[in-house]
Amino acid sequence: MRYLERYERQLRIEGWDQDKLSNSTVMIVGVGAIGCEIAKNLTLMGVGELILVDNDVVEVSNLSRQMLFTDKDIGRPKTMVARERLVEMNQFIKIRDYYKDVRELDNSIFEEVDIICSCLDNWPVRRWVNSMAVELDIPLIDAAMDGLYANLQVVLPGKTACLECHGETLIPREVQLAECTLRKRKPEDLKRELEEQNIVVDLELVKKLFEVGIKTVFDIKYSQAQILERVDEEVKDKIREIQELLKPKMPALQSVAAAISGLATTELVKILHGESLGKIFSGLIVYDGYSTRFTRVKLDKNKVCFVCGDYVKTEGAEIKVKLDEKVIDLKKKVAERFSFPDPEILYKKWRLEDDQVLREIGIRNNDIVYVETSRRFNPLPLKILLVDTE
Ligand SMILES: [Zn+2]
Repeated sequence: MRYLERYERQLRIEGWDQDKLSNSTVMIVGVGAIGCEIAKNLTLMGVGELILVDNDVVEVSNLSRQMLFTDKDIGRPKTMVARERLVEMNQFIKIRDYYKDVRELDNSIFEEVDIICSCLDNWPVRRWVNSMAVELDIPLIDAAMDGLYANLQVVLPGKTACLECHGETLIPREVQLAECTLRKRKPEDLKRELEEQNIVVDLELVKKLFEVGIKTVFDIKYSQAQILERVDEEVKDKIREIQELLKPKMPALQSVAAAISGLATTELVKILHGESLGKIFSGLIVYDGYSTRFTRVKLDKNKVCFVCGDYVKTEGAEIKVKLDEKVIDLKKKVAERFSFPDPEILYKKWRLEDDQVLREIGIRNNDIVYVETSRRFNPLPLKILLVDTE
């Protein structure tokens, strides 16, 4: 009875079905300003279960906008604090929290999720979450902000455009031109690049990073926990310190976060309802707080998108190579075409070495190889088109 009384006002909304909400599981990736807002909205509305994922702790500079945290929470994992706060707001919902990089979660967790909210502040992980959602056929809402600007994209796998469909125009150029590990790099290169960002490190430390495969600034920023497991405590601490210095610090405002999160939550609830709360929005909404303007951008599905294109899943994206080229040449082509920073090529049971010549490996026309990269959830199937078949 108390349950019905609690939701009484929203039950009056035409088309509302509380069961649709209370039987749903929503994953929120990134519990920052937008993640806090969406989690709070869904908690108050009475969603069934929330899964919170974030690998950060609360910092003083979060307190101007991440509304689930207070001064006494500084230093504690955001997911844990958020859960405690949300439970106080509504005891009827279930909350699970993972103080982890989303890429480290067990796949079985994703399978329990009805919808994913990506509220991240960096493109590499946003792209990974997009790939994961599309491949597992889970609807995705991606919300982000930059100062007085914010945007929201709804991805319904198989039906609407994904984040990569128009990546060439919508993903910033500097993110697309990911730092590649493909050229022969020396520890001195990384040391110099860090210095360009005003971070001074010992060459000895950089050599240790190279030993575990951390060769670029990109690798330091987004190296996954399993790589950090392979270095000793002292190096690990140093990496964390550099990561902190390299963290994107975009301008951000609470009211803008609240505005885009409000829209995101409404669209999310509509998706959970099917069509009973109105037509489900697909595409992109851009909010410009300077000129008080909302713009809806229609995004067509890109048939040859390397994440959601149908033929990519069945036949693989195509790439032209010559038999006398080496694996490293193929990797460079892949890196350039798909902006993968770290492609690894898998063929039959083998992981190919850079110096191997394609002819010697025995690759034939129309063979499928697989590209492993931090950009994708599953390896990308790639159909080899030989341009010099004898
Ligand atoms: Zn796509």
